[in-house]
Parts: sequence; C-alpha cells; structure tokens
Amino acid sequence: MSDTGTSSRRAHPAPRLIIDLAAIKRNYAALQTLAPTASVGAVVKANGYGLGAAQVVPALADAGCRCFYVAHTSEAREAREALAGRPADIFVFNGFWPSELAELRQLSLFPVINDLQQLEDLRALAPDLPCAIHFDTGMSRLGLDAAETEALLADPARIDALDVRQIMSHLACSDDPDHPLNEQQRQRFERIRHALPGIPASLSNSTGTLLGQAYHFDMLRPGLALFSGMPAPGQASPFEPVVAIDAPILQIRTLQPGDTVGYGACWTADRPRRVATVAAGYADGLLRAFGNGGYGRIGETQVPILGRVSMDLICVDIDAVEEPVRPGDPVRFLGPDIENMADSAATISYEFLVRLGIRFDRSYLR
Ligand SMILES: *Cc1c(COP(=O)(O)O)cnc(C)c1O
Repeated sequence: MSDTGTSSRRAHPAPRLIIDLAAIKRNYAALQTLAPTASVGAVVKANGYGLGAAQVVPALADAGCRCFYVAHTSEAREAREALAGRPADIFVFNGFWPSELAELRQLSLFPVINDLQQLEDLRALAPDLPCAIHFDTGMSRLGLDAAETEALLADPARIDALDVRQIMSHLACSDDPDHPLNEQQRQRFERIRHALPGIPASLSNSTGTLLGQAYHFDMLRPGLALFSGMPAPGQASPFEPVVAIDAPILQIRTLQPGDTVGYGACWTADRPRRVATVAAGYADGLLRAFGNGGYGRIGETQVPILGRVSMDLICVDIDAVEEPVRPGDPVRFLGPDIENMADSAATISYEFLVRLGIRFDRSYLR
C-alpha cells in the first residue's frame, strides 16, 4: 500500500449520513417490551426527526406500528404516501383549517382537535372524519385549556356526533422524573379519561414512557427514543443509536506549540499535536457550538473537535489515535455520542437531528 494520500483512500468520498433502520425497528420493539399493556405509536414529524419520513415510516410499519403522528397536514400526506397502501392511523397534531378538510378526508388523515371552536367546526363540516382531542394538562401550548376542558367534561354529549379515536395530552417535564408536574398532569389526564370512557388515551412521549406503567395508558407517542437511542443524558438506555455521520479526513498536519486552529484562532497547541481536517461542518448540521467539547471517533478512540466548526470543515485532535490515520479515512460523529454532543452544544439532540443537512449522501441500513 502506498503512503501517499490519494492512493490510500479508504472512505466513502463524501460525508455520509448513516441511518440504521434496523435499529429503529429494534427501538420500536424495546418500547413495546417496556409498555406491554399499551400500543406503540410513532411520532414522525419534521421528516421523521430529520431522518427521512419516506424510509422511516415503512420501517416502523414493518415493525408493527399502526399509528403515526405528525405536526402538519403536508407531513401526514408524506406519511400516507410512504405507507403505500398499508393500513395505519395518521394523526395531525396541529389540527386543521377548514380548507384542508377535503384532503384530510380523501387521504384518511385524522386531525387532532385543539380547542372547542375546532370541535364545533368539525361537527359542522365533517363529523364523519375521525379525530383525536388534545387536552392541555400543564404545557400551555396546544389543546383544550382548563376552562374548555371543564366545559366539555360538563357536557360530554358534545362529542357524541364525532368519531373520536383518541384523547391525548402532552407532558412538559417527562425528561425530569422528579418534577412534580409529571404526576399533576397524569392525574388531570386520568380524570379526563374517566369522564370520557371508552376512548383510547395517549399521554407519554419517549421519556414519559420511562416514568412507568401509570403513564402508559393505551397508546405511546414516542419520537426521540425511536431515532436517537437515548432519551435523556446520563440515563442507562434500553434504546440503540440510529444515526451516525462518517466524514472523510482531507488533510493531516502536525502543529507546533503556539500554532492556532481555525477561525478566531480560539485553540492553541501547547505541544506538538497531530490534527486532521475533516470534510463536514455546520452546513451539514454539525453545529458550530460543537466546538465546545464535541468530539468524533476514529475506531473507538475519541478525537476532540479543535477550535471552531467551519461551514464545511472540522479539525480534530488525532494524537490519541494509535493506528495509522490517512487522508480519506472516516471520522465518525454522533452514534452513541449523540446526547454528549447535544450537551456540548448546550442543546438537545432533537434540535440537530431535524437539522441534519441536505448535503450528506444518505445510507439507510436495512
Ligand atoms: C413531538 C411530540 C411527541 C414525541 O416526543 P419525543 O420526546 O420525541 O418522544 C409526542 N407528543 C407530542 C404532542 C409531540 O409534539
């Protein structure tokens, strides 16, 4: 083997986003194991958390999922197309505008009712269209507020003419198991469920599922647990990582003490250091803030990000890598490190998953 850069190239030449559909299916199965008394739905909003709804939705259907949730009608249409005729309920969290009703009906997409006006509109315009009702039990974001909830519970016959397939609520603090709002929301939801018997009830997102069986009700609504592998930093996880980025090394250089790396010269070598320049940057969704403690890996070895992340490039410290490293070799990002990376950028994995760039070649493992 030659030791010149070009002839030793081993990597896929372009930065590559690797999405493990088999891991998504195993995560779905793990949720079903965690919550044997509930059904497991899947939240696939924002293009399946950035991973590609066209691929992720059929994989979940293969795993047995028959209930999908999205934010927008356009996303529901994509999910319906991705299902290619397989039966599944698709709920639209953001509700509906009257102008959308024809399409919702035609594609059998079910709006989530978020206030009493919408409920009356649906009763007047499309009472046969199945729907869900979202009750706000403490998030103050979407759903019938406390006063509207009481009005409906006082007169439950208002929904008699509707085909209500689910009632739901959403937890505000489920990533913090000790937060008192979890139990308050659960009790409020329990009360609503007793007042509207016989309708399947759904409360828990990914981290809500981990709060225990009292939070499971009839249908889970996980997103992140399916797609990232770890619902909360520092917790042992029953889920597997799904997403990794492999980006090739373009150049390797040895820095002398005092040399600086990247824009703003924010990182200075204290001793001779080997630095690899990698072909991925914030244009690909590797956040600029990952410069503060983010890292990739060569094999198992962590290679810390040095200096600022540029639009197309990242520099990593490869001093700790024992095996030979050459241009063309891949540096891997995310994978099991996804939550640590989110922490390093003072954000959550959700945020950068949905922003993974369009420049990547995408490889789906099946
Ligand atoms: C996004 C969303 C979910 C899924 O949340 P995860 O934390 O990703 O599991 C569930 N329910 C609602 C209403 C949502 O908006």
